[in-house]
Amino acid sequence: MEFDLIELIRRHTAQARDDVRVGIGDDAAVLAVPAGQELAVAIDTLVEGVHFPRGTTPADIGWKALAVNLSDLAAMGASPAWALLALTMPSADAAFVEGFAEGFAKLAQPHRLALVGGDTTRGPLTISVAVHGFVPPGHALTRAGARAGDAVLVTGTLGDAAAGLHAVQHPPRDDDRTGLRGFLIERLNRPTPRLAAGTALRGQATACVDVSDGLLADLGHICTASGVAAEIEAALLPRSSALLELHDDTTALHFALSGGDDYELCFTVPAARVAELQAGLARLGCGATKIGRIVEGEGVRVRAADGSRLATDRPGWEHFA
Ligand code: ADP
Ligand code: MG
Repeated sequence: MEFDLIELIRRHTAQARDDVRVGIGDDAAVLAVPAGQELAVAIDTLVEGVHFPRGTTPADIGWKALAVNLSDLAAMGASPAWALLALTMPSADAAFVEGFAEGFAKLAQPHRLALVGGDTTRGPLTISVAVHGFVPPGHALTRAGARAGDAVLVTGTLGDAAAGLHAVQHPPRDDDRTGLRGFLIERLNRPTPRLAAGTALRGQATACVDVSDGLLADLGHICTASGVAAEIEAALLPRSSALLELHDDTTALHFALSGGDDYELCFTVPAARVAELQAGLARLGCGATKIGRIVEGEGVRVRAADGSRLATDRPGWEHFA
């Protein structure tokens, strides 16, 4: 595609890192992996109308395309370094690229992440970002490793992004004077990857996953990979006051259990370590809440406040469902 679009991307996302030997402009990037580190890599694709609603601003799309990938690195306990961007769009749209690059760069800069290359093609609006990060050898957090007796924790609040999507799809007749809808839509469009929490969990958490498809689905991945079951208490699920004010209890609970796109970290940790770990995460500005425990068995069970078991037949976003 037009070369000036690539120049536009390069100008807006310039980030100096001395480990980028060859960046945007050649046939491939050449990168110096620091001695004594392992490389963690991930890729995620956003398709318009599937992963973000039509009408999402270019800057929000740019932020989110990177955020969902950084969230995967956070879940592994890795520190981000480099990214590749494959951008497919219906026409060579400089205004879109400028907005996109601005949102992308706003998140990339504080994390010293360098965009080192990519591909630009014509087609339905689709964005793939690949990220590369470092982790000390053997210290990556995985989904396997949770053990019976571990506590289950989650950072931040759950269900906000699902409520944000609901807000986008049901525009109000009056203004958003309270700002609550705006808060939820921001949580949908500008998720915060929990990178500092992820690195702090190295050597502490026994398993970790980021909540992209909904708590039930993603905690279910930890259970499957670890060969254990989880028991969650509905009353303990952290929910924002915006979510609770705009939705009844049943809907708020459903969003918190099954809503996707929150990009919080869900992790397990030996019960004796919980308080100390929570204090450490709070010092990083990332509160974490204990929501249940790991037991023998399989699957995720949810208990209501009266001790009864909740039916959870909708396990979150199923791909291709
Ligand atoms: P080639 O034909 O050799 O694959 P391209 O013309 O596709 O090269 O790209 C030229 C340079 O611009 C390459 O270094 C490539 O990595 C970079 N590039 C292309 N598209 C993007 C993009 N969307 N974001 C970042 N870099 C890009
Ligand atoms: Mg080439």
